[in-house]
Formats: sequence, C-alpha cells, structure tokens
Amino acid sequence: MPKEHIDVLIVGAGIAGATLARQYCRLGLATGLIDAQAGPGRLTSAHAGAITHPPVGRTASKLHTIALGAFHLVVEDWQDRWQERGVFLQSKPNASFDQVALSEKLQRLGIGPEMGQLISSRTAQDCFGIKRSGVWFPSAGSVNLGRLCEDLVQQSPGLRTIWERTVTRIQKENGIWLAFDQKGDLLERAHTVILANAFGAQDLLSPFGTHLFLKPVRGQLSIFGLAKNSKLIHQLPKTIISGEGYCLPPRYDTQQQCYRWLVGSTYDEQDDYLEPRAISDHHNLQLAKGILAPTELKIDELHPIDQFVGLRCVTKDRLPLIGALPQLENIYVATALGSRGLLWSTLASYVIPALSHSSAFALDRLARFGLGADLLASLSPTRFFAGALASNSKPIFPPSPKAR
Ligand SMILES: Cc1cc2nc3c(=O)[nH]c(=O)nc-3n(C[C@H](O)[C@H](O)[C@H](O)COP(=O)(O)OP(=O)(O)OC[C@H]3O[C@@H](n4cnc5c(N)ncnc54)[C@H](O)[C@@H]3O)c2cc1C
Repeated sequence: MPKEHIDVLIVGAGIAGATLARQYCRLGLATGLIDAQAGPGRLTSAHAGAITHPPVGRTASKLHTIALGAFHLVVEDWQDRWQERGVFLQSKPNASFDQVALSEKLQRLGIGPEMGQLISSRTAQDCFGIKRSGVWFPSAGSVNLGRLCEDLVQQSPGLRTIWERTVTRIQKENGIWLAFDQKGDLLERAHTVILANAFGAQDLLSPFGTHLFLKPVRGQLSIFGLAKNSKLIHQLPKTIISGEGYCLPPRYDTQQQCYRWLVGSTYDEQDDYLEPRAISDHHNLQLAKGILAPTELKIDELHPIDQFVGLRCVTKDRLPLIGALPQLENIYVATALGSRGLLWSTLASYVIPALSHSSAFALDRLARFGLGADLLASLSPTRFFAGALASNSKPIFPPSPKAR
C-alpha cells in the first residue's frame, strides 16, 4: 500500500493515457499509470493502422482551427513514426476540379501548398493508382497506435505502472487523491489525477454528480486478403486514401503469404458489440468499391481475413473532453477522442500539463500553433455543465507564455 503520494496518476493506458504519461515523465514529475488490461494500448488503441490528416471543413470554424493546430503538434511529435507517409483525401466521384476555387478554399482554411496540394484525377491516377481528384497531404500518415502506446510507456523514465487493476473509486483525503480497486485496496495516492480511461471516466465521476454523456460508436475495419499473383493488386491505391471511407495501401504479409488490404470503417451508433460481424465486412466492401470508383472493382475476389473492432468513445457534440473539472480540484479528463484518437490525444498531452502544472514547455507549444485558452475552452468538460455550474465554465487555461 503506497504511503507517499506521487505527483500525477493517470488512469487508462490507451493512446490518451500513454501520451500523457510520457509528457509528465518528460517534465520530471513523479507519475503513475494504472490500467485494467495487462499492458498499454490493448482496447480501442490496439488499432494498428490509424491515420491522421489536416481537417478540411467548410469554414475556418473554431473546431477547424483547433484541429489544424493539433495536426501541427501531431506532425512534430509523430511523423518519424509514420508507417505510411502521406494521405490522399479524395473528392466525391463526380466532383468538378476547379483548381482556383479549391486552392482559395484551402488558403481560407489555413492549409498552404506546403501542407495540402491539389491533385487532378489524371495525376492521382499516375501517382496513386486512383482516378479521382483530391488533396495530397505529404506530412500526414498512419501509425500503429498499440505499438506507439507500448513505446511511450517504455520511454517514460521512472513511470510507475500498475497493470490488470481497475480503479473503481477515487476519493480525496487531506488534499491528496486516493485510487482504490474493487476490493477496496488502495492502488495509488496522487496530488493530481487524470482520467484518460475512455468510458470508465464516467463511472469514476458519477459519485460526484458529474455526467460526461459518453456513448459508444462501434467501428469495424476489414482486412481483405489477396493472393500474391492477384491482378486486383494493380487496381488498388498505392497510398493512404481518405474520404467516404479509408484504406491503407495493400501490404504483403510474408507469414500469411498474401497481401493484406485494410479498409474501413463502420460507424455503428449506440452499439458496443466487440466481435466482428459479416455485415460490417460487407459494408466495408461497399466502401472499397466507392473508394475505387469510377474504376470497377470485382469485389467477389476480396475476402476478409481479419478485422479490427473497437468502440469509439463520443460525447453528444462529438468533440473530445480535454480539461479540468473545476468542482473537483486537481482532477482532469482526456476522453471522448472519437475517431481522432491520435489528433486529440496529442493535443491533450499538452493542454492538460499546461492546466495542471502551468508547464511552460506545453504552453509554448500550444501558443506556437495558435492554441490559446479561449479556443481550447470549447473542449473543456465544463461545456456540458448547466445552471449553477455555468459560472465555472470560463476558460481556466493559464496565461500564455507571452502574457506572463
Ligand atoms: C474502427 C475504428 C477506426 C479508427 N480509426 C482511427 C484513425 O484512423 N485515426 C485515429 O486517430 N483514431 C482512430 N480511431 C479512434 C481511436 O482508436 C480512439 O480514439 C483511441 O484509441 C481512444 O483512445 P483512449 O486512450 O481514449 O481509449 P482506449 O484505447 O479505450 O483506452 C482506455 C484505457 O482505459 C482503461 N480503463 C478504463 N477504465 C479503467 C479503470 N477504471 N481503471 C483502469 N483502467 C481503466 C482501459 O483498460 C483502456 O486500456 C478509430 C477507432 C475505431 C473504433
């Protein structure tokens, strides 16, 4: 039973918890990480082919600005980890390609030519093997989230880890938070607790009357197998494609002696079934057809050989919950990452240390990409608190380094 308290306890070792653990260890704070699983990145963050690219919304909204700033952080932190470099965001099949109007739109969105390049369908056919116009993001890419979680935990010097224990209760005593498991055993004492445990954050906050309105959205990715000599290989994209669905370029698997082509994914609201479903593979086949249109794809040659099923944790407004709970001193949340696990976890790994310890390092990085307190307040969990708590929903972000 721990007698001394640590500085920061993180509950959950998915991508949210792992990125935070690395950041706090970097800051030299005594940090602990607890997960119900046997190691990091075992649930939704076990996703081996997660992609990230800049947002392309209709307007340069607040959310767009935040996501674009977060994308800059992602590139700085993870581009040397890309498994596949570059993402092609394809336009709809019959969309017109008005280069002038499109480049003006990208400029308005803060996406300069160094970040996003317009590509005609002819060039896309030559470069990526796909006859559709779109935007090429050379600094975007894909990462194995599960492996990243493991590496981050390993690369966090001094990190205290506890595996296969579920935190079922947190309680404050003499200004220090205590975390207990279901048997009532004290797991850790900490000055600050960060709930990076997806849906589990709700269970720990309910006794305090705090509701985060989290719901599951099931997603299934299908991995289609193709024989080494299949002619279909030459029809498949040579890079990551994003749009209505997404796919990675096919990769040869020496063990299974076939090509693996990852295509996804389903978006099944209020569904938490974790086993693969044939109907979801069928849905992904249709997505595959859509991705390759107008080229006809003979889908009868494609057979699923593997799947990844995960639960996206989402809130009612589909934005992540990143920030403080002012009525619970020294408790922070980093959850509801939805479909943008890498983007939002990277952002959280700066926002939360900036809030909890006024980390100059974190504040500098956020300020560099225009991510100020007012903007980030829209991700704060306090946005759901009505009435009596509304007065607490003001930004509580520390002043930016410039202002200090
Ligand atoms: C089909 C699909 C496709 C996706 N594609 C992409 C993509 O292309 N790009 C992208 O960026 N994102 C993608 N995502 C989203 C991404 O996978 C998630 O947003 C991300 O993995 C969530 O990470 P997390 O750390 O919040 O949650 P999790 O990975 O679920 O981790 C939460 C951890 O908390 C632990 N835990 C929970 N409660 C407790 C407790 N009480 N005590 C101890 N431990 C606890 C759990 O054991 C778990 O390990 C996709 C998701 C799906 C389902």
